[in-house]
Amino acid sequence: MEKMKNIWKWIALVIVIAAVGIGCFFTGSRIETSKYQAEQELNVKLNRSDLDGLGEIDGTIYVAGHKSPDADTVGSAIAYAALLKKLGYDAVPVVLGDINNETRFVLKEGGIETPQLLEDASGCNMVLVDHSEYTQSADGLRDANVVSIIDHHGDGSVTTGNPLIYDARPIGSTATIIWIRYRNYGIEVDPQAAFAMVGSILSDTKNLKSNTTTFADREALRALAEIAGIKDTDTFYQKMYQASISYEGKTDEEIFFDDYKEYESGGKKYSIGCVNAYDEASAADLVNRMAKVIPGTLASTGMDMSFAQVSIFHDDISITYLVPGDDAAREVLETAFGEKAEYNGTSFRLEPGISRKQVLVPAINQILEAYPHE
Ligand code: MN
Ligand code: MN
Repeated sequence: MEKMKNIWKWIALVIVIAAVGIGCFFTGSRIETSKYQAEQELNVKLNRSDLDGLGEIDGTIYVAGHKSPDADTVGSAIAYAALLKKLGYDAVPVVLGDINNETRFVLKEGGIETPQLLEDASGCNMVLVDHSEYTQSADGLRDANVVSIIDHHGDGSVTTGNPLIYDARPIGSTATIIWIRYRNYGIEVDPQAAFAMVGSILSDTKNLKSNTTTFADREALRALAEIAGIKDTDTFYQKMYQASISYEGKTDEEIFFDDYKEYESGGKKYSIGCVNAYDEASAADLVNRMAKVIPGTLASTGMDMSFAQVSIFHDDISITYLVPGDDAAREVLETAFGEKAEYNGTSFRLEPGISRKQVLVPAINQILEAYPHE
């Protein structure tokens, strides 16, 4: 009997100790949670304070990507304008030209309206996304009020002299930088913006396969696809790719200008038009058509030289054909890639293929700066 009493005492003691322990644990974790929340709130406040630094902005803010708008440029403009709107600004996304077939596919699938065309930026408040070069931006930009630049290319020619938000990061797509900014501002992405951003990331990183892809791009794609309700991003990318290689209803000149960018280096102006092909036969056909069309574009664009870059990039195939527009352009490619590429009299063939931004532009710049003509 006495023994039984002792056992009950021990059990009671164990229960009391356990209860006190559990109580302490929960109070502790509550303190931990609220400390964490306070840290998060401080983080959001710190990040949002850059907006206060912009001061009062009178009138609408136009969010614009580059000319020859691609899926990243358009998705980023839509997403960043939506973010600014949620933060209380009067912001609208705009485009600086006809969107390409890939972007058209993304917007159509997402039920998203094509942003309106901005003819001239003079006197406008501007946010630039996915570029920072005057040559690639809106007409009249030198007379505009640039309040922010969000980009993942090299620092370009646009300067303002004003305090501005300049968020440039070497990651796979501008939309990923914008996703990070949403997180830093403590704002949820809405499904339509998320849908457009999925298109941006898939397009610029070529379904996370290009060597520009970072951890942030993978995380952003996963999170945004879930919000957008896109279950299979591989299949979605395949459809985007099919749309991107269909140049249906376009003339050779329109194909050259479909994904076209202008640059300046060593006192020379040059441009590169990127073209996608599905296989070697269609690539060879496009190479010949681009070789014929480029020389005629030099006068109207005012370029010193122009190139076309025809790429096959899907599944495990990665090939680039570089097409020089004239002899000067051919000499530049010969110097840059002569040892690595096969030249057949029309184009230089590189396997694996190369990125315009990461390889081709730096290589051309290096040569133009090293051997300035005149
Ligand atoms: Mn772009
Ligand atoms: Mn981009």
